[in-house]
Amino acid sequence: MKKYNPYNNVLETIEAAAAMLKLPKNDYEALKYPERELKVAIPVEMDNGDVKVFEGYRVQHSSTRGPCKGGIRFHPDVEIEEVKALAAWMTFKCAVVNLPFGGAKGAVNVEPKKLSRAELRRLTRRYTAMILPLIGPEKDIPAPDINTNADIMGWIMDTYSMLKGYSVSGVVTGKPIGIGGSLGRSTATGRGVMLITSEILHRLGFPVLDTTVAIQGVGKVGGVAASLLAKKGMKVVALSDVSGGIYKAEGLNIIKVVEFIKDGGHLIDYNIEKVQHITNKELLTLKVDVLIPAAMENQINKEIANNVKAKIIVEGANGPTTTEADEILATKNIIVVPDILANSGGVIVSYFEWVQNIQSLTWDEDEVNKTLEKIIIRAFNEVWQKTNKHKATLRMGAYMVALERLGEAKRIRGIFP
Ligand code: NAD
Repeated sequence: MKKYNPYNNVLETIEAAAAMLKLPKNDYEALKYPERELKVAIPVEMDNGDVKVFEGYRVQHSSTRGPCKGGIRFHPDVEIEEVKALAAWMTFKCAVVNLPFGGAKGAVNVEPKKLSRAELRRLTRRYTAMILPLIGPEKDIPAPDINTNADIMGWIMDTYSMLKGYSVSGVVTGKPIGIGGSLGRSTATGRGVMLITSEILHRLGFPVLDTTVAIQGVGKVGGVAASLLAKKGMKVVALSDVSGGIYKAEGLNIIKVVEFIKDGGHLIDYNIEKVQHITNKELLTLKVDVLIPAAMENQINKEIANNVKAKIIVEGANGPTTTEADEILATKNIIVVPDILANSGGVIVSYFEWVQNIQSLTWDEDEVNKTLEKIIIRAFNEVWQKTNKHKATLRMGAYMVALERLGEAKRIRGIFP
C-alpha cells in the first residue's frame, strides 16, 4: 500500500479549491511549496550522563499575509512531510479566519513521556537555540501542539530571551499567564470547537440538547471541547485516548473523565463509572450525531469513512480525514466542518496573546472569549456562503475563502525581486 503522505493531501486540496475558483496558476503556485524547511540535530545530556540526539524541524510554509505562526509537536512518529502539511494547514487556517499571520510548524521526534522533566527542559532549550535564526515575534511565533504545553512555551520564551539579552514575551504563544500568556488561551481551541459545533447544528436545524457526541482525543482540544459541549447540554457518549476508548449511552461524566486524565490516567484503566471499553476504530464508527476527531491526522481513512455513522464531523485535530475519505463522506451526505475552521480557536487566541504582548497590555477573559466568538462565527458565515454559492463541501468553501485572501495578498505584494 502507498504510504500516506499528508502533504499530498494539502496539494490536492489546494488544486481542487483553485480549480473551483478558476484562480490563475500564478496566484497560488508558490503556495504548493513551503518557503523554508530547517532540520536540526538536538543533542541532550540525559540524567544518566549519556548524550542522546533527537531530530527536530521548523517549517515555514508562507509569510505572505504576515509573520509565520504554528505550534510545536513532540511525537515519536513525526517526519518532515507531516510538518510541511501542518505548516501549510496553518497558512490556510490563519487566512480563513483572517488573521494577519502566515503558517509554520515545528516538531521534535521524541516520546516525551520517556523523558524526565529536566531532560524535557534541556531538549526544549536546545531545540529553541537551534531554530533561533528563524523565530521571533515579527518572524515566526511557535505555540503548543501535541505533547507540548504552557511550561514548554515558557522555556522557549526564556531561552529566546536569554540569547537576545532582554525579555521577549511575544516570541511564543500559549505561555503561562505569569510571563505574558493570555487568559482563555488554554481553552481556546476546545471553545472554538464547541462554538462551531453549536453553529453547524443550528444551521442544519438540529437541536443542541441531548445531541450525541463522540470525541477521539482527550487532550488540550478534545478534553476542553468535551467539557464545554456537555455544559451546553450535549451528551458526550464516547471518548478515547491513545490507550483506547470508553462508551456510555446515557452520557459520560465528563468532569470525572477529564480529572482522571489530568491525574495521568489512561482511559483503558477508567472504571470510575460503568462504561463499555471500546477501541479507537469503534469510536470513530459509532452511531452518534456528531463525531469530533481531536487526536492525530489520518484517522478517518477510506476504510473508516465507509463505516462512519455520524451525521456531522467537526475536525478538532489537524488533518484527521484523508482526501479519499472526504470523497466517501461527501457521497454519504455526512457534513464535515474542516480543521482549518473548526480548530482555529487556538490560533485566534494566540493572535490575541501576541497582540497583548507587543502592546504590553492585558485583556480580561470575557473580552478574549467574546472576541474569539465574533471572529470564528464571522469566518463560519463566510465559509458557509462560499460553500453554498459553489455548491461545494465546507472544506472546499473554507479553502476557497482562504485562497482568495492569499491570492490577493500575493498579487498586491508581487514576486520579489
Ligand atoms: P494533546 O497532546 O493535548 O492531546 C492529544 C490527545 O490525543 C490525547 O488524548 C492522546 O492520548 C490522544 N492520541 C494521541 N495519539 C492517538 C492515537 N493514535 N489514537 C487515539 N488517540 C490518540 O494534543 P492537542 O493539543 O489536544 O492536539 C490534538 C489535535 O488538535 C492535533 O491534531 C493538533 O495538531 C490539533 N490542534 C491543537 C491545537 C491546540 O491549541 N492545542 C490547536 C489546533 C489544532
